[in-house]
Amino acid sequence: MQGQKMILQNSVIDKFRAIAGPEFVLTDYEDRYCYAYDATAIGEELYLPDAVILPENKGQISEILKIANENSIPVVTRGAGTNLVGACIPLKGGIVLHTSRINRILDIDKNNLLCTVEPGVVVEKLQQEVEKQGLFYPPDPASLKVSTVGGSIAQSSGGPRGFKYGTTRDYVLGLEIMLADGTIVKTGGKTVKNVTGYNLTQLLVGSEGTLGIITEATLRLIPLPEQRQVLLACFKEIDQAVNAVTGIISAKITPSTLDIMDKNTMQTIEKFHKTGLPTDMDAVLVLEVDGFKESVQVQTEQIINICRELGAKNIRASQNRQETDEIWFARRSAFGAVARLRPNVLTEDAVVPRDKIPDMVREIRRIADKYSLTVCIMGHIGDGNIHPNFSLDLRNEDEARRFEKAAAELFESALELGGTLSGEHGIGYFKSPFMLKALGRRNIELMKSIKNIFDPNGILNPDKVFERI
Ligand SMILES: Cc1cc2nc3c(=O)[nH]c(=O)nc-3n(C[C@H](O)[C@H](O)[C@H](O)COP(=O)(O)OP(=O)(O)OC[C@H]3O[C@@H](n4cnc5c(N)ncnc54)[C@H](O)[C@@H]3O)c2cc1C
Repeated sequence: MQGQKMILQNSVIDKFRAIAGPEFVLTDYEDRYCYAYDATAIGEELYLPDAVILPENKGQISEILKIANENSIPVVTRGAGTNLVGACIPLKGGIVLHTSRINRILDIDKNNLLCTVEPGVVVEKLQQEVEKQGLFYPPDPASLKVSTVGGSIAQSSGGPRGFKYGTTRDYVLGLEIMLADGTIVKTGGKTVKNVTGYNLTQLLVGSEGTLGIITEATLRLIPLPEQRQVLLACFKEIDQAVNAVTGIISAKITPSTLDIMDKNTMQTIEKFHKTGLPTDMDAVLVLEVDGFKESVQVQTEQIINICRELGAKNIRASQNRQETDEIWFARRSAFGAVARLRPNVLTEDAVVPRDKIPDMVREIRRIADKYSLTVCIMGHIGDGNIHPNFSLDLRNEDEARRFEKAAAELFESALELGGTLSGEHGIGYFKSPFMLKALGRRNIELMKSIKNIFDPNGILNPDKVFERI
């Protein structure tokens, strides 16, 4: 791989250097190597970009895009590269535009309950800053310590709080977008209501960098809940945990979080971090209730009663912020822990209607057994969104093949149960072969026509989402 032929001419790279500054245009093999991957393990192929550019502002992005468009140079935008579907992998080389330097919180508007931010702002940083003002930005992908607002909008990321608060999509009011030819378009705005024409804002949310580059976002905020209470409900059988979820939902209680981790997941976490999870149990529910103090108390009692009635062996309630953080630390370290088990971890993200959750969990276990694969099940069970994390060694060709078959079967099962391929991770490169089956040809044709209008030369994140069909 070393010394791979550069596609970009030096004269073009010199133009990029003149725009962004020479030290912010990376062309060394070692630098480019890091940007050939994202958080997805999708085999051994290596896709090197020709150059990585770290622009400082949107003016520079615009100038870079103009050159890229004129010369048909592929452009992959990258936030923190934490997506799990190969969305940042520069399949066709070209340039990677890394947004990490465009990272200012421009405004927190307490009167209108909104904020305006640049794409490279890290999600947790935004949450911390708005919390200082008694406000709340709920979207909480487990990667929030590093993932960016731009990336989370482009993937329409979700997280544990989706059950009560929805996902990133529900907080995006307006966007500033750089089109492929470098022109700027503003969509939506600062109003909470807006039906002026087609909703281009929501079209851009979840578009995975294929339609435009997000250079600014106006996001909705809500008041910070007065109190939070986390519960860890432990079950001998995973089916009991799933039934408890149904029990809670049908009792019309709305916890902010209804997450699950199975035994394999807990044992894996405990192997690397001692967090006190009950590794002898088949599953735990991680529940969080928030709101006014009195309401939190009532809901907590109701949930404890329902979980006990439906077989919970033990229920741990956090007593203070530190205990709350410890439980969340355990939940958020799940992916990282599984990733340390073996060389690769591949995460699925199927979502099914809530009443089909027990069937989906059974299917995951059946399929993993059938193909002799190790799976750790976790996810946002209240949303019907389950993440089976397969722990693998993709250098083992037989295991890689077994995984491919298992993944295909999993998607089939999700579709048969009335669900779909992805609840929050998106499609990227990894899941694009399944799009036709999930959506049908006409849907794909419509999407391709839209892509063509936004990006006629096909330079923005090529070969992603549906392009392999
Ligand atoms: C440990 C771990 C836990 C995770 N937990 C969750 C979870 O709970 N929920 C969830 O939904 N996801 C989760 N993810 C997936 C991932 O973290 C999210 O999708 C995240 O929001 C992506 O942000 P990012 O900055 O890393 O984006 P990147 O991975 O850098 O980019 C993602 C996509 O967005 C595009 N993009 C990035 N910035 C822009 C921009 N400014 N304009 C246009 N397009 C852009 C990229 O081209 C790419 O297509 C997890 C990942 C890991 C590794």
